[in-house]
Amino acid sequence: MKVTVIGGGLAGSMAAARLAASGRCQVTLYPGRPGSTALHSGGWYFGFERLKGEGALARAEAAFACLKRGLAELEIEAGPFRLYDEDGFQQKVDAAARTHRGALSEATPVLCLRGRGRDFARATGRPRLEVNWPPSDDQDRSSAFLARQLDRPEARGPLLEAIKASPLRGQGLLCPPILGVQAAAQVHAALEEAAGGPVVEALADTPSAPGLRLTRALSRWVIRAGVQISATPFFEVGQRDIASRFDEVFQADAVILATGGYLGGGLTSQRPVREAVFDLDLTPQPDDPIRAAGARGAGPLFEVGVFVDEALRPCDPSGRAHHPRLYAVGDVIGGPGPLGASARSGRAILTAYAVSEALLA
Ligand SMILES: Cc1cc2nc3c(=O)[nH]c(=O)nc-3n(C[C@H](O)[C@H](O)[C@H](O)COP(=O)(O)OP(=O)(O)OC[C@H]3O[C@@H](n4cnc5c(N)ncnc54)[C@H](O)[C@@H]3O)c2cc1C
Repeated sequence: MKVTVIGGGLAGSMAAARLAASGRCQVTLYPGRPGSTALHSGGWYFGFERLKGEGALARAEAAFACLKRGLAELEIEAGPFRLYDEDGFQQKVDAAARTHRGALSEATPVLCLRGRGRDFARATGRPRLEVNWPPSDDQDRSSAFLARQLDRPEARGPLLEAIKASPLRGQGLLCPPILGVQAAAQVHAALEEAAGGPVVEALADTPSAPGLRLTRALSRWVIRAGVQISATPFFEVGQRDIASRFDEVFQADAVILATGGYLGGGLTSQRPVREAVFDLDLTPQPDDPIRAAGARGAGPLFEVGVFVDEALRPCDPSGRAHHPRLYAVGDVIGGPGPLGASARSGRAILTAYAVSEALLA
């Protein structure tokens, strides 16, 4: 079976890798921009306990197991890159509880690197553990750069020494999202040892280290599975009447639209918001997309997306599929979606799993 996947974020990569790894599909992926929405994330937690509906949790567990298997085969280092299952979720809840209820006490300092982090410390009323690291003021201080620096033992040495020497040692540490990309587990362990207590990575600025870890893992999975990557990263169709030109344009047995939402580029940010590739029908528009876009996380703009039917095929508001072999996965889908994912968390992997499962059946 020939399958075309448009968009190489979490949802598209997972669907493409799974289908190709089955040995039964020849998969072509238009990857778009690597990482995309995943690069905003501060960690990975799939929100499955919020799923509603019969069989939803079992489906979610199967999807999660599929992702874990796919990535585990590559021996991806776990570290603070966590695909939270129930235990992991509990850990996250515990970590949050420690942070907020006192076990990571009010005295737990915020790690401030050359002044960076002071605002966060001020906002949370916490003490600051100030370190002049990286060594020079001229150095890049983005999270991604610092995370890669910390991957290198010789570069992280001076930071660890400074933390150990601090009078605030022993209370744990709240860190910016910099706990390594490739050597995340070692970085986390080294910082915990230096800090003399638990180290918690705060939410991210982009690109985030957890997002980089996931992106790196996904692209390796896609390559290892034998997905054919299109030399043209972005798919563009000159004419938007997809139904009548489907076979001419794709020569594929199925097409999976995985272009993401507003952050990924699957939806335009101008008003009115539109689906960017085929101009498919969307769930209701927010009144004020600009304000909505400013809301972190689940603002109204993040709930806009294409209508889909039970089989995850984009459809018009009356429920008629635009094409029987066109599917949508991930953030490009609007509203809660038929799989009952009440929040965006977990939607990417749930829908990618569901469509690949259906195609392999
Ligand atoms: C701050 C934050 C925290 C989050 N935390 C979590 C979490 O803990 N757990 C969780 O489950 N979810 C979380 N999410 C949501 C999660 O990140 C998204 O659901 C997921 O990454 C979406 O994946 P996607 O593949 O649908 O879209 P995207 O990752 O946006 O990927 C879309 C891809 O399509 C490409 N593309 C777009 N147009 C085209 C085109 N014409 N041709 C080819 N390619 C194209 C883009 O370049 C991109 O690569 C979080 C989101 C944010 C913003």
